[in-house]
Amino acid sequence: MTVRESASDLVEPRTIVLIADYDAHLDAAFCPLCGADVTSTIGTPTVPADLLETHVTDDLPVYGWSCECRRVDVVLPAPEEAAPDHFTTAEAHLDGETVPVATPEPALAEAT
Ligand SMILES: [Zn+2]
Repeated sequence: MTVRESASDLVEPRTIVLIADYDAHLDAAFCPLCGADVTSTIGTPTVPADLLETHVTDDLPVYGWSCECRRVDVVLPAPEEAAPDHFTTAEAHLDGETVPVATPEPALAEAT
């Protein structure tokens, strides 16, 4: 008889999503996992639809940063207050909490 690992142990998340550590004074962002300065990666990385409280049918780009410190993608959405005005808010379910993330309005309209 062989010992089998349960399937759930073998499933790795496709993407890790955590709100970035953002320093408004420095206008700099840091990865909460490894502490790297990720400011230069600013863009609209994609958050998987299943992590969003806001009902969407597709993955959603969010205003934020990314880090390459894990084997899977690390997406670091900006805190809501750090996003430009023309972004709109979606609710994400991250780390047991519901947090607002900023997404381009047309992308949200398309995904809902
Ligand atoms: Zn990192």
